[in-house]
Amino acid sequence: MNMNIIVCIKQVIAGDRVKIDPLTQSLVRSAEFSHINPFDLFALDLAVQLKRETSSTLTAVTMGPPISEEVLWEALAIGADRAILLSDPRFATSDTLATSYVLGMGIRKIGKFDLVLCGMRTTDSDTAQVGPQLAEELDIPHVTGVERMEKKEGVFWIERTSDGFREVLQVPAPALLVISPRTEVRFPSLVDIQDAFTQSTIEYWNLEDLNADPMKVGRDGSATWVEALLPLTQQKSCVFLEGEPRQQAKLLFLKLIERNLFS
Ligand SMILES: Cc1cc2nc3c(=O)[nH]c(=O)nc-3n(C[C@H](O)[C@H](O)[C@H](O)COP(=O)(O)OP(=O)(O)OC[C@H]3O[C@@H](n4cnc5c(N)ncnc54)[C@H](O)[C@@H]3O)c2cc1C
Repeated sequence: MNMNIIVCIKQVIAGDRVKIDPLTQSLVRSAEFSHINPFDLFALDLAVQLKRETSSTLTAVTMGPPISEEVLWEALAIGADRAILLSDPRFATSDTLATSYVLGMGIRKIGKFDLVLCGMRTTDSDTAQVGPQLAEELDIPHVTGVERMEKKEGVFWIERTSDGFREVLQVPAPALLVISPRTEVRFPSLVDIQDAFTQSTIEYWNLEDLNADPMKVGRDGSATWVEALLPLTQQKSCVFLEGEPRQQAKLLFLKLIERNLFS
């Protein structure tokens, strides 16, 4: 049962290193302070497991600037057979809709596929929109919150938890699944990393390679845009409560009421 599996991964900025370009209101990205979106490691791990169980082919895809190729090398070391970077200056400032369009065009160019896996959300923009939007773009069914899956008799059997119930769903191929975090993922060994660099290459596809519509990418193709990004300022102060425990408890109670934290 050979399948063509595609996993979408994104390079994200390390949480404490986020910088905003004041002119474009977009994130300033640098390889030094970026890494693979942690939620995508779970999708990648499941994809590698499936690939090994079913002798399938696994392709990792990312849309981003050239520095995003770092996450593709990581995907190759973890077990992807092929890595594709969708990169073009015209893709910059894409919102989730334009991102999903570019990813969709990339996946169409790859050709026949059975399964697309995405992470649950990213740790920088964090919209959780790209998985479902990409499925719409590709016109295929999708399931979010996937905890377990296997392919039996031509359909995917999916398990997930929803509203406290265990749901078992059947989805025909091709399908897109958004993978929930699991307890652990496997990391590549030094040999895997060396093999990735010596035996693999990364393919770069731009707007022309994808035969994409320039009006559907970047700012022109985005239905939403950021008007302003303002850093959150938190004011903290420490108040010591004096007196006997009973008095302190009373004071604490009054302070909670004062701040509308107790009704
Ligand atoms: C209104 C708006 C305006 C924006 N403007 C800008 C901007 O000007 N400049 C800028 O840099 N960013 C901008 N962004 C952020 C950019 O759109 C997102 O980073 C990108 O669309 C992915 O969205 P997300 O990070 O929320 O992914 P989510 O929807 O949270 O990601 C879910 C999953 O989709 C997959 N995925 C997501 N993104 C990619 C990708 N690029 N490649 C491969 N797989 C992916 C991954 O599997 C991921 O786990 C904007 C976002 C919004 C909402």
